Amino acid sequence: MRTVITGGAGFIGSHLTEHLLSSGDEVTVLDDLSTGSVDNLAAVADHPRLTFVEGSILDTELLGETMAGHDRVFHLAAAVGVRLIVDDPLHGLRVNIHGTENVMEAAREHRLAVLLASTSEVYGKNTADRLAEDSDRILGSALLSRWTYAGAKGIDEAFAHAYATRYDVPLVIVRLFNTVGPRQTGRYGMVVPNLVGQALRGEPLTVFGDGQQTRCFSFVADVVPALVALAECPAADKLAVNLGGLTEISIMSLAARIASRLDSPSPITLVPYAEAYGPGYEDMRRRVPDNTLAGRLVGFAPRATIEEIIDRVAEAIAVPAPAR
Ligand code: UDP
Repeated sequence: MRTVITGGAGFIGSHLTEHLLSSGDEVTVLDDLSTGSVDNLAAVADHPRLTFVEGSILDTELLGETMAGHDRVFHLAAAVGVRLIVDDPLHGLRVNIHGTENVMEAAREHRLAVLLASTSEVYGKNTADRLAEDSDRILGSALLSRWTYAGAKGIDEAFAHAYATRYDVPLVIVRLFNTVGPRQTGRYGMVVPNLVGQALRGEPLTVFGDGQQTRCFSFVADVVPALVALAECPAADKLAVNLGGLTEISIMSLAARIASRLDSPSPITLVPYAEAYGPGYEDMRRRVPDNTLAGRLVGFAPRATIEEIIDRVAEAIAVPAPAR
């Protein structure tokens, strides 16, 4: 397969790049290095089947040139992370909505199959016991910058789906639930690298709100093979599919597990949302995936425990990848 990965120098993208190279693909990474880094690709930098193109999915000419001659695209490039979205909602909206439109147009023109990486954020404030793919989206005010990400990714999905249906482009949409692992940066707010970094440095662990909000973290090494399997699963065509972790954990107990696992003297500090993200911030209280569809389609059965995830993230932070 000749595969393009937009956002291939990012956290999930770089793991996917390594995975596809090891299974024999020719891989072209398109990344503007805004949040990704060539350091993430250090292990495969000299691989003969890897081509790296620095550029944006907003550059339609470059995108078309890059995608021509390939069989499929994993569209992972996006503005992600609550911090980034709250700080610059306009950028997030542009990259996420126009970027996906550009990828779909280039896919149609050059006949590529598309995997669109989406997010559990599309369910918004829905606190259902298990969020299935047809669960409702419950979003807050359109003018609260926090909701622009959820809004944009929902539009992305709708756009990609309508486009793929109209022009007969193979498409699968994958909704990722808090994927974590080595190379994820805490810079844009992601809780696991943030708290692990704080624990390793002996700084207070910042738990936002009351800490009773929950998430189901999934490990990148469980998620990446499932992404590839879904891209290669004809029965997944035009579907949205959840991929998430099995264990629901509150952020307060996550912080406690991190401190104890890493033998850290750090105290846990509660930080009000307004202080962490600015006024008017609304969090998701709960976000639990129903993985039944992914299980049925590709046998998705995540294995990593939260302890393993903490260990792997801590190792990666303690031993940074070599700079190029
Ligand atoms: N969070 C926290 N401390 C941090 C960073 C995040 O308590 O240093 C909280 C955040 O408010 C949210 C949860 O952890 O309730 C997960 O945040 P993240 O940004 O990782 O993912 P998302 O909000 O997209 O689920």
